[in-house]
Amino acid sequence: MKFVLESFNRDVADRELLQDLVAVASKLKDLGKAMTFRAYNEHGKYSASTIAVRFGSWNDGLQKAGIVPSQEKDVPIEALFENLQLVWIAKGRQPVYRDMSATPSQYTASIYNDRFGSWRKALEEFVSAVDQEQSELLNYEAEVKSSKGTKRTRRDPPLSLRFYVLKRDRFCCVACGRSPATTTGLILEVDHDLAWSKGGETIEENLKTLCFDCNRGKGAT
Ligand SMILES: [Zn+2]
Repeated sequence: MKFVLESFNRDVADRELLQDLVAVASKLKDLGKAMTFRAYNEHGKYSASTIAVRFGSWNDGLQKAGIVPSQEKDVPIEALFENLQLVWIAKGRQPVYRDMSATPSQYTASIYNDRFGSWRKALEEFVSAVDQEQSELLNYEAEVKSSKGTKRTRRDPPLSLRFYVLKRDRFCCVACGRSPATTTGLILEVDHDLAWSKGGETIEENLKTLCFDCNRGKGAT
């Protein structure tokens, strides 16, 4: 392999980045592989994060290049559901189709379409998966409580528990009442009532929703 210095990506024209995306997408297609972030890092001249930074997101870059980012057939369903949960949390409400094509979503709605038959069906299956996961979660919490301190939870709540608490609090900060659904860019966090270091468990009844500011004692302005 010839040794060449990588040029400063900053100086590369948008057009060159897009051309490389198209070239790599077609190469990957011939190889029977999906045009993913990781595959582009392996085969592209530039890095996938350069694309994401330049065009706003990886998916925006693909769209600019005229590539339909729907070839990811092998994404595990868990990853699709996890992504849906993260978008739901970021939006503070049920995501709509177009939310899935923007940050922070990693997979477009068309991938959900392909996998589940329709966007609606994807949402239905998601909700039933979440319900099931949460009933397991509550069983586990019951065990923790009846163990009288011999069984301890981890400090950081898993995503499913965070989602449960946020949903219970209607995706609103319990201190200031704001929600990402009405305040764009507001970040919601899940915080312990009784600190974990003081024996407070990471269970639903000891957790509450706070926005980034309230959680750091700054309060809403
Ligand atoms: Zn707040």
